[in-house]
Amino acid sequence: MFRIAVLPGDGIGREITPQAVKALKAVGQRFGHGFEFEEALVGGAAYDATGHPLPAETLAMCCRSDAVLLGAIGGPQYDELPVNLRPEIGALLPLRRELALYANLRPCILFPGLSHASTIKEEVISGVDVMVIRELTGGIYFGEKSRGVNAGGDVTATDVLTYSVAEIERIVRFAYGVALKRRHKLCSVDKANVLESSRLWRETVTLLAAQYPEVETSHMYVDNCAMQLIRDPRQFDVIVTENMFGDILTDEASMLTGSIGMLPSASIGGEVGLYEPSHGSAPDIAGQNKANPLATILSAAMLLRYSFDMETEAQAIENAVHEVMKQGYRTPDLAEPGMKTVGTAEMGDLVVARILAPETGAST
Ligand code: ATP
Repeated sequence: MFRIAVLPGDGIGREITPQAVKALKAVGQRFGHGFEFEEALVGGAAYDATGHPLPAETLAMCCRSDAVLLGAIGGPQYDELPVNLRPEIGALLPLRRELALYANLRPCILFPGLSHASTIKEEVISGVDVMVIRELTGGIYFGEKSRGVNAGGDVTATDVLTYSVAEIERIVRFAYGVALKRRHKLCSVDKANVLESSRLWRETVTLLAAQYPEVETSHMYVDNCAMQLIRDPRQFDVIVTENMFGDILTDEASMLTGSIGMLPSASIGGEVGLYEPSHGSAPDIAGQNKANPLATILSAAMLLRYSFDMETEAQAIENAVHEVMKQGYRTPDLAEPGMKTVGTAEMGDLVVARILAPETGAST
């Protein structure tokens, strides 16, 4: 029995998460796995009910589960709360810390018939399939922060960027593991021409590369990588980088395909991984059955692959999503003339039908 903690959260999170749960139940039914789902409050919904965005019982439930599926959190009504009670800071950061989630994975894949959704020319992005892996618990975001006054009396601010060899090795080994399951190419991104932490990063990657001769390792400065992602994204297979560079590059990479409702993510660390769509709670369309649930459904596929080592089952979900897209079904965010527009729940049903009956093409 696999225990999955389900945290729908806020806004469209409450509509898209049930679609991913439906997909997981369909996988359980088709492949004979027992998945047990336990639901709890997080984010603004938890703050409204309990006064805190990450109640102790929610955290405890996540810690005793085998994996966590999260919808989305936040909303404009919570923006004025004290910082530690805001959904993102009060819930996401402690959750990452408590679950020791040191690796964030964001695949960037162009789905059939969606090249028009990108702002980049079709010939540049067609066939793109990049995995960006970001270190999530170290670096400048977690370094010492201070304010002071310099000799001239001017106010100064300092953020310290520290990485240890052990931290770098951990994320880079993980990235090699992912590269070995993909196209065997790893690009390590740093700023070794300027930063000492990046020089240590590059030295560590270079030493590790010798242990992975089957993987083609390359190094790239972060400014060049930002440019290359737009110029020729197909040159990349797996990119691995430190926390702040990864924060920026994952957002850039996620926009290559232009379809925010299609992009899943995984955060992996100790025993329990956390899976969520890359997008936010989209309060502008919440409660209208308009949200695209596919990013969350694809996050459930990542959950199967990375937490339960169920590659075939993960592919069953991904193939079902490909099939539904190929057959022209679209939620309103991706609607265009000639396509069949469907709501959030109907899109979930279409994917479920194809998971359960892949060989028949599932009647609709
Ligand atoms: P955050 O800071 O949490 O990322 P945000 O408001 O900047 O929040 P989103 O909540 O991701 O960003 O929303 C950005 C835009 O994308 C909104 O117009 C929203 O409606 C749209 N959007 C986001 N997710 C989806 C989805 N799953 N389906 C359809 N549209 C979406």
